[in-house]
Amino acid sequence: MANYDSRNHSNQYHQNNRRPRQEEPSVQVEVGQRFPLTIKRMGINGEGIGYYKRMAVFIPGALTGEEVVAEVTSVAQRFLRAKIHRIRLASPHRVDPRDSYADEVGGFELEHLAYPEQLKFKRDIVSQSLERYQPVGFKHFDLRPTLGMADPYGYRNKAQFQVRRNADGQIEAGLYAERSHDLVDLPTCSVQMPVVMTVMRAVVAMLQDLDMPIYDEEQGSGIVKTLVVRAAANTNDVQLVFITNSQKLPRKRELLERIAKELPQVTSVMQNVNPGKTSLVWGEETKHLAGAEAITEKLDGLSFKLSARAFLQLNPAQMEVLYAEAKKALDLQPGETVVDAYSGIGTIGLSLADVAEEVRGMDVIPEAVDDANANAEANGITNAHYEVGTAEDLLPKWIMTGFHPDAIVVDPPRTGLDDTLIDTILAVRPPKLVYVSCNPSTLAKDLVALVHDYHVDYIQSVDMMPQTARCEAVVKLTRRQ
Ligand code: SAH
Repeated sequence: MANYDSRNHSNQYHQNNRRPRQEEPSVQVEVGQRFPLTIKRMGINGEGIGYYKRMAVFIPGALTGEEVVAEVTSVAQRFLRAKIHRIRLASPHRVDPRDSYADEVGGFELEHLAYPEQLKFKRDIVSQSLERYQPVGFKHFDLRPTLGMADPYGYRNKAQFQVRRNADGQIEAGLYAERSHDLVDLPTCSVQMPVVMTVMRAVVAMLQDLDMPIYDEEQGSGIVKTLVVRAAANTNDVQLVFITNSQKLPRKRELLERIAKELPQVTSVMQNVNPGKTSLVWGEETKHLAGAEAITEKLDGLSFKLSARAFLQLNPAQMEVLYAEAKKALDLQPGETVVDAYSGIGTIGLSLADVAEEVRGMDVIPEAVDDANANAEANGITNAHYEVGTAEDLLPKWIMTGFHPDAIVVDPPRTGLDDTLIDTILAVRPPKLVYVSCNPSTLAKDLVALVHDYHVDYIQSVDMMPQTARCEAVVKLTRRQ
């Protein structure tokens, strides 16, 4: 499933234009070595970048314009990683992060940067990505200022925390430290919706009280692996999911009784079974434990049913901004047909159904597609239909059967568009194309092919994830004559 949480493992380092030329001797540096460094710019993961003897140095937590003493943490052939040993000259935009662990776990890369500067950074990331892939005409693209939040905290509707019992027998719940498997317990988290953290910590306390068997990765023993809490901002529904190592959930009755009594805000309790050692958080099987099987979120006057595994953007307030931008960019006229590719639970397509003649969408997750069709029905929408499958498979099939969309909106995961899909789009050439991207690198790469047939009218970045380096963008493309 698309994972909006995964870190960006883009190969930016290898494509960095400023790397030293091959014939230059590589610099002799050792781990632990310190040197003064001026931060020239910030890279796509929010880290500061400076140059030591013309070698790029990536240094998390450092801001543009700062002068630091860097301490080398790893040496690669063409770049170095370092940490801040000392800041000699701080940026005027540096602020104190609210979360004490902000520099330890992923997802808080920019919490030390004043918010207006975060917004500028995100637009700059789009610009840097274009610079790297150079789609024809990129210098003239209209990059609009990033749309941000009035209050860039407490926005996140979902927490997915690993649980572990520490050496003292205490149950901890949180995220892994970066580039490691060390769990960092998160008693508070400034970007989460308060209700999410209240439920999360209360459940952790219950697990402790009931002495529940917690999964132990090394031994392969124990049961509870992960806790997921998702809240619907506009209906107050809250879903709690226990991801477990086995079908069995010991003390289930006591646990559910306590949840019902002490956490009345929880409207749905589910269990997802994910046995054994695996890098995937979610397993295939989801069981109903208590309350409703799904929660409902309301967006732009429409209701959306959310089952446990269905993807939903993490920031409900900015979701409305993002979808309004997608709608504006599509500029659908009555009578036009539209494809909602990578549709999730149908959020984008269903919001277009009042104008469109027909909406067709697809997603690879069957539950999400079921939700999308159920959402159409629940909202009295009869001209939208969703199918299970990949965009690259289904779009050509639909076209073979005579369906020629006037508009396509794509909202792919971080990997971007499949080449086959790009080829299909370029063969079918719908007049209107909107690309909703959650990864400027793959966006820039995909634009290289798309600009042959499409003009980029503008790129509107939207900040869906304040305090992180993540950047979303809506691109309006119009078919060339
Ligand atoms: N438009 C939705 C979902 C976007 S997330 C929203 O705004 O909420 C991207 C979605 O693409 C995920 O739901 C994921 O399951 C789906 N997906 C991943 N690969 C796909 C593919 N090859 N074809 C179609 N959908 C895919």
